[in-house]
Amino acid sequence: MLPFARVAIVGLGLIGSSIARAIRVEMPTVAITGHDGDASVRERATAIGFCDDVTDTAGAAVTDADLVILCVPVGAVAGVAAEIAADLPADAIVSDVGSSKAGVLAALQAALPGRAVVPAHPVAGTEFSGPEAGFATLFKGRWCILTPPADADPAAVARVAAVWERLGAQVETMEARHHDLVLAVTSHVPHLIAYSIVGTASDLEEVTQSEVIKFSAGGFRDFTRIAASDPTMWRDVFLNNREAVLEVLQRLTEDVTMLQRAIRWGDGDALFDLFTRTRAIRRSIIEQGQDDARPDFGRAHE
Ligand code: NAP
Repeated sequence: MLPFARVAIVGLGLIGSSIARAIRVEMPTVAITGHDGDASVRERATAIGFCDDVTDTAGAAVTDADLVILCVPVGAVAGVAAEIAADLPADAIVSDVGSSKAGVLAALQAALPGRAVVPAHPVAGTEFSGPEAGFATLFKGRWCILTPPADADPAAVARVAAVWERLGAQVETMEARHHDLVLAVTSHVPHLIAYSIVGTASDLEEVTQSEVIKFSAGGFRDFTRIAASDPTMWRDVFLNNREAVLEVLQRLTEDVTMLQRAIRWGDGDALFDLFTRTRAIRRSIIEQGQDDARPDFGRAHE
């Protein structure tokens, strides 16, 4: 049996449009209504056709939904939740896909008191945005983390988990604050490092821009993929996961200082030991199917 019959998706960018496309493939009888705050996105989504209906307001999208998924930047969740509150059917479950969770959970509970709220974060994405960027297989083999409040109805959590499993994801449930610390380490701070190194390289006066681009295969270009991610989305992630990001950054700063000292004093053993440990982490990621095992991420070298 299908976990839901009528899904409303608010925010029809990379993640929202990928969910719609994946539902079309995996649960073709489910009715999908979409809304986006941007009129041009609504037009493009209508033209692509991954929703049965695209509405002009968020409220109109949710009126007969049994599942509502908010796929907007985390800073916009509170506003969208307030917009849908009056039109939300009493038995609808509200979820989202935001990359930080404690703030989102608090915002949803404040705007929708007494409603069933089951926040989610699919740990899957690309550096592209917008309705054209989505694809139906985005979530296959990836993790989706659910962060329900402590008093959530287990049946509601199970139904949301069932959707993600049908879309090909593996589901794990954890407390929102713990999610935010884990993702600060695995996603948010790595993005901050990429934004910062790409910014530093482009600011270095003794090295020209053309040299940075010409010799980027030395490692720089792999940071630029991450640093090309959506500015609105990432601004909101850092502002909404401030505490955990600052905690991890503090640890990172201490570790970088330690590396600085090892380089200054010629402590090759310290460097070698760290680089050996980090290589093992890469191996584990490949063994667990979370990345391409081919050399250089499978890039063509002809
Ligand atoms: P996206 O491609 O930029 O799509 C977001 C869409 O939401 C845009 O079309 C945007 O319109 C619209 N929007 C913004 N504010 C709105 C509002 N108040 N009401 C209605 N629509 C609004 O971004 P995305 O990558 O799909 O990210 C969406 C969410 O998924 C974010 O919370 C992000 O943290 C999370 N997420 C992203 C990834 C990833 O890799 N990208 C992975 C996992 C989770 P405009 O841009 O035209 O304003």
